[in-house]
Amino acid sequence: MKAFLLERVVLFRDALGGDKFLLGGKGYGLVEMTSLGLPVPPGFVITTEVCKQYYEAGGKIPSGLFDQVREKIAEVEKETGKKFGGEDKPLLFSVRSGAPFSMPGMMDTILNLGLNDRTAKRMAAMTKNEKFAYDSYRRLIQMFGKVAMGADAAAFEKILEERRKTAGVKMDIDLPAVELRGVAEEFKRVVMKQTGKEFPQNPFVQLEMAIEAVLRSWNNDRAKEYRRFYHISEELGTAVNVQMMVFGNSGETSGSGVGFTRNPSTGENRLFGEYLPDAQGEDVVAGVRTPRGLDSMDPRVLQELGDVAKKLEDHFKDMQDFEFTVENGKLYTLQTRNGKRTAQGAVKIAVDMAAEGLITPQEAVSRIEPDMLESLLHRRLDPTSADKPIAKGLDASPGAASGEVVFDTEEAARVGGGKNVILVRVETTPEDIKGMIPSQGVLTMRGGMTSHAAVVARGMGKPAVVGCNEITFAADGSHFTTKSGERVMKGDIITIDGTSGNVYKGEVRMVDPEPSPELLKILEMADAMRRLGVWANADTPGAARKAREFGAEGIGLCRTERMFNAPDRLPIVRDMIMSQDEESRKMHLYRLFPFQLSDFKEIFSAMGGKPVVVRLLDLPLHEFLPPPEALIIEIDARRAGGAPAEELQGLEKMLARVRQLVEHNPMIGHRGCRLAVTFPEIYEMQAKAILQAAIELDREGEERADVKIMIPLVALAGELEFLRGVVDGAAEALFRERGARVEYKVGTMIETPRAALTASEVAEYSDFFSFGTNDLTQTTFGFSRDDVEAKFIPRYIEMGLLAQSPFDSVDRAGVGRLVKIAVEGGRRAKPGLEIGVCGEQGGDPKSIEFFNDAGLDYVSCSAYRVPVARLAAAQATLSESSAATK
Ligand code: PEP
Ligand code: MG
Repeated sequence: MKAFLLERVVLFRDALGGDKFLLGGKGYGLVEMTSLGLPVPPGFVITTEVCKQYYEAGGKIPSGLFDQVREKIAEVEKETGKKFGGEDKPLLFSVRSGAPFSMPGMMDTILNLGLNDRTAKRMAAMTKNEKFAYDSYRRLIQMFGKVAMGADAAAFEKILEERRKTAGVKMDIDLPAVELRGVAEEFKRVVMKQTGKEFPQNPFVQLEMAIEAVLRSWNNDRAKEYRRFYHISEELGTAVNVQMMVFGNSGETSGSGVGFTRNPSTGENRLFGEYLPDAQGEDVVAGVRTPRGLDSMDPRVLQELGDVAKKLEDHFKDMQDFEFTVENGKLYTLQTRNGKRTAQGAVKIAVDMAAEGLITPQEAVSRIEPDMLESLLHRRLDPTSADKPIAKGLDASPGAASGEVVFDTEEAARVGGGKNVILVRVETTPEDIKGMIPSQGVLTMRGGMTSHAAVVARGMGKPAVVGCNEITFAADGSHFTTKSGERVMKGDIITIDGTSGNVYKGEVRMVDPEPSPELLKILEMADAMRRLGVWANADTPGAARKAREFGAEGIGLCRTERMFNAPDRLPIVRDMIMSQDEESRKMHLYRLFPFQLSDFKEIFSAMGGKPVVVRLLDLPLHEFLPPPEALIIEIDARRAGGAPAEELQGLEKMLARVRQLVEHNPMIGHRGCRLAVTFPEIYEMQAKAILQAAIELDREGEERADVKIMIPLVALAGELEFLRGVVDGAAEALFRERGARVEYKVGTMIETPRAALTASEVAEYSDFFSFGTNDLTQTTFGFSRDDVEAKFIPRYIEMGLLAQSPFDSVDRAGVGRLVKIAVEGGRRAKPGLEIGVCGEQGGDPKSIEFFNDAGLDYVSCSAYRVPVARLAAAQATLSESSAATK
């Protein structure tokens, strides 16, 4: 182990080899940049270990820590020739948080530490720039007062606002020196008044309090909320970075900026970023002043910045998001990290970097979060729609969204889950995150491409338009008005287009997107790496076509009950259910035959010879009938309206039948194969329709259909033996009748624990298995799949009883165990048995990894998840092979 790893406080220049978990993301970046010879102001990291010790001790600074901090300060003084608290060459520090995973804006930062009444005055004299000195000093008191001493941020803002008014200026930066000096004095009084304590003049006291404040900020509400949303462990802790200050606010040849080595929105390989002259770094991200493009910088410094960007990418081999400051014409780099990017950006960057040889195709495929891809396949504004935008802002996070205007974060958090809302704010701060989570999109009046709203929205994959300064807010919070005078009230529907920056009134028509060449490329790369097949769940010819377009290699689940629900079929289904004897039931069933026949023909034809697994009817019959309460109301109403006796009798007969069919637990009641054991004629008709469709297509010269007939909810091998007999019997009868034969397979779903446990027996009558993990999860847990999400799963997650809903991601310990038992049993009885999964978890990347490892042949998921699954399946193979080489 490297010696420094045992230290709790370590200089940037000594910490090479430390990882992100110890140094935090920011510290790690600073250490790496220092080692690359980039212009990093010197400083040191207090490791995440200290944070852990701080919380383990119940919020106490570990003993001896500040002695170590003083030793490192002495080293920085030696290196820079400056002195902390000194007057001639004052050394000032920034103190910043830095967790192992980036949590932008969630924790606290304090700049300009070390300034006090004396040093501020001295700095003003030395730099001959009083404005700069007092601007820095007032920022320190403001940040320190708020973060380290708990003063109310609004009080400071109010003072600044008043001063701006009296001085007749719009921006803080335009306040003259004398005003800023006054502001600093007033700020000190605010601190005293609000906290009962003086703003500390001793730099060491400032530093110690600031370090503790940053450690405390790991546990503030917004940071906790953020960690919950992004599943970041509470145990990691934050590091604290103490670094020599450089000043972007020391005049016109200074400034601060944020750079991206490539465009984070589009992925374009060109240095991208924003720059604010005469400003400290926080001004750029806070969105208080709208920054300019990098082209506004001095060309010589810009050139240097380009060299820095190139070095960063060559080293980190990923797109970097870096912060820099220019102090009197000299460039400093202050931070770097892998940049957050949109889904579109991520795909383009990965594909381009692989083409450039910077990373391998395997790395490119591993880099992309599969879930991200779904957003690329979602709808965008219809380019032919004639709607005219009412305002335009910056295109901060692509995609379009419509919803009701909500101005208040609390309200968005409250109502956002239930309906579509767009959060509209002057600007967002980390406190707004809880309102952003349930919103469809975000619109802000201020802020640039790197403002909080932009960064967070991109990270969440939500559309955002920021810096839309064409809108103004009503003082009473009831509406906003556009430049052209259009008024948009709270609750009105708007549409924002984060791809163009446009804002529209009302709901604008949307269309399906075109996959980009880069998306097609990354999927092609993934296809070459994966073992697992990717099929789709599709019930209609339209869905089948969509699935194929997205690259599905078959249909793993075509649910036939959905076909029965169409308005032209439901009355026939009802007649069938109402039948009292087999003969009349059969008669009505065969009225459904032509519908089923044409559905299957179209689906087989859409799939052009690829496998199609048709699942025979699986719904409890009463679900096709109106609920009893509705029938009672209807009967009463008709009776009151003087309806004829026969009509009332008919309805009453239906009510009696509904009452007969109603079940206490319909999900584990008379459904699936149980229904067919009692009414085999249903499966008989369906089997005939499926096979006749295949025969007709054959005759019409179309690609031969690959037909697989699947029987649901089997628990006993005997059920399958019987129903397979029904299907085979129907097939033989049909083939005789038609004088033609087609190939077909009969398989079963494994969706009860008993079927899984006795898989070797079930396999005897089955040509294939497909795990119905929705029902398998329901029956393994004994959780009703229709009720749990709203009732108790969130509480289970909150309490840590479950990490996430087992209906979203497969429960490996329980359901997963049954899957493995069934795979083993099935293939023991029938080596090479084809096995897939068609429950919702089949489209979930984590579950896909499990199904890959369990040896399944394919996963089947909804059409829009197919690209996600293709990528996840490739990643599963890659992690399998990297585990094997470890
Ligand atoms: C399942 O149970 O996982 C399944 C795919 O079937 P359904 O959702 O139709 O019950
Ligand atoms: Mg099921």
